[in-house]
Amino acid sequence: MAHFLERFYPFVPAPLQNLGISLYGFAWKRERLGGQFPRYVSEFRERDRWSPEQMGAHLKTELRRLLCHAFDRVPYYQRLWQKHGITRKELAQIEVDQLSRIPHTPKEDLRANADSFVAQNVPREKLNRYFSSGSTGTPITSICTADDHQKFIAARDVRSLGWAGTSIRSPRSMIGGRSVVPQGVSRPPFHRYNWAEEQLYFSAYHIAPANIAHYVAALNHHQPGVLTGYAHSHFLLAQMMCAQNLSLDYEPMAAVLSSEKLTRQMKATIKRALRTRAFEEYGAVENCVLATECECGHLHANLDFGILEIVDDDGQPMPPGVDGRVLCTGLLNHTQPLIRYEIGDVASWSLESCACGREHLPVIKEIVGRLEDVIVGPDGRQLVRFHWVALDLPDIMETQVVQEALDQFTVKVVTRNQLDREIEQIIQRRFCDRLGPVSVRLERVSSIPRSERGKFRSVISKISLPARTPFGCAQLAGSL
Ligand SMILES: [Zn+2]
Repeated sequence: MAHFLERFYPFVPAPLQNLGISLYGFAWKRERLGGQFPRYVSEFRERDRWSPEQMGAHLKTELRRLLCHAFDRVPYYQRLWQKHGITRKELAQIEVDQLSRIPHTPKEDLRANADSFVAQNVPREKLNRYFSSGSTGTPITSICTADDHQKFIAARDVRSLGWAGTSIRSPRSMIGGRSVVPQGVSRPPFHRYNWAEEQLYFSAYHIAPANIAHYVAALNHHQPGVLTGYAHSHFLLAQMMCAQNLSLDYEPMAAVLSSEKLTRQMKATIKRALRTRAFEEYGAVENCVLATECECGHLHANLDFGILEIVDDDGQPMPPGVDGRVLCTGLLNHTQPLIRYEIGDVASWSLESCACGREHLPVIKEIVGRLEDVIVGPDGRQLVRFHWVALDLPDIMETQVVQEALDQFTVKVVTRNQLDREIEQIIQRRFCDRLGPVSVRLERVSSIPRSERGKFRSVISKISLPARTPFGCAQLAGSL
């Protein structure tokens, strides 16, 4: 049904699109909040109050279980560990602080062959696939079952939304990556409504000064209790509201925002215009990591979701306060296990503990994603996230978007083969759909240079707009 709806979606009027979204929303709700979801929620709640010793024992058991499962059933790890002479016995007795004995998993390996990470005992008809941009502008395929999905959402319900004083059952709004409002549409409404979950879904691609009043009117009309989605899109919205002396006429319970780093300035602007506190959520489409902001304003690593390591170039742990590469071992996804997976972000542990008392969930001082500029279109709309440039174009390995002038773009591409005319036309059309009439020049390059500390800049604007720092992955799988 989903494919049928998606195919005809852009061509039907907005009320029918609302109906389509609601039908899809109903099925989506059953998948995520059905099955064992209530049990998983109570388990996450229970672990919320644990001591560090209880959590340590749990992590050891879960880690050993995951590693033995991967050894027995996952082709990628069978090959990798055989090459390194790692035995099942060694994995069955490993301690959490001995993880650095195991080689890390480069993101490129998942990108190149996502199916080699899938456990052989999972029936193929149960596999769901999610696509998202990786840190180098090329898509990642994340694979899980409905049951895995229920665990991920349970964790986010308890930790991301629960700590912010709200829940997945609250009416909510979303600004995210789905093109709910077809790109060519230039008239309001710039949102659609999912009755199944009382969810207001806004377009991230129509945030422009001329459209802001329509966003505000929709929020005031539906009054969602929690605002979710891209941090930077909410910041842009709030900034434009402030410039036009607009603010909401009610106070939402919270904004739980992800995909980009949420700075103090962004939080203050959101508080002023959207009249609520913004909480940071750090996750990934691969669902191997989740860090969430507590009541006291600190970002805690939810180790029972995934073990997060911060390491040096040799894979050894960094002391608190020192920046290192983030490696994640997802404990919930046994369908497509990721073990010491390099997500592409840099972070450091905090030197301080948090007053909230959750000593078993360590505090992250800061996460630094890659640098990405904001793009402004000829009509003033501002765009973030360019994962769509190379989506479903498997020949393209990396892209870098450079805005030369308001209506002129260069896209640098690293490809396996020669660039053909058809790919050029597809990319040109994608830009025009989202930004109106602009010219796009494709330039094939052998590699895209990294900036300081090996950071990749996937979007560069030569028009002076502030840079932002999105995290290694665009969006959490199974968006709220
Ligand atoms: Zn805390």
